[in-house]
Amino acid sequence: MTQTHPVDVLTRLFAEQGGNEYLGEPVTQAEHMLQAAACARAAGAPDALVAAALLHDVGHFTGPISGAELMAGTDNRHGHAGADWLAGLGFPEAVTEPVRLHVAAKRYLCAVEPGYFERLSEASVYTLSVQGGPMSEPEAERFAAGRYAADAVTLRRWDEAAKDPAATVPDFAHYRPLLEALVAAR
Ligand code: FE
Repeated sequence: MTQTHPVDVLTRLFAEQGGNEYLGEPVTQAEHMLQAAACARAAGAPDALVAAALLHDVGHFTGPISGAELMAGTDNRHGHAGADWLAGLGFPEAVTEPVRLHVAAKRYLCAVEPGYFERLSEASVYTLSVQGGPMSEPEAERFAAGRYAADAVTLRRWDEAAKDPAATVPDFAHYRPLLEALVAAR
């Protein structure tokens, strides 16, 4: 039996569900994730973190609970759902763990960085409340000690920046070789 290549699964997902609106932001889900990946590339990030940026919200598509339900007040834990799903496709931890932690990273940054909360979009402020609000001090300390915390925080900043309706960035196919190499190397 031939199995669909993981990157083909992702290509189809971006093509089919990528056009969905992104939680009330002025960009689609696919535009949002492609912009996050372009930010990562522009920053000279390693390939795994570029892939994490590109794929960070797949949990809105693949988890048991949708992004629409998140906006209706149920935490869809899309970081965890996306990370587990990507691990199942064969991506290494350097991709899956920043994805897993990118929601926690927002809660962390709101707790430790003055002015961060004020810069969040309206939708992001709303989902923050559903996701547990800013971390407490002990929570933030525990988070920061984690192996992938720094990558998750970096990814989070690109996530916040990737909501520009006027941006023009490379398409999904552009990242195909990078994704194939990451899956093959694990
Ligand atoms: Fe996002």
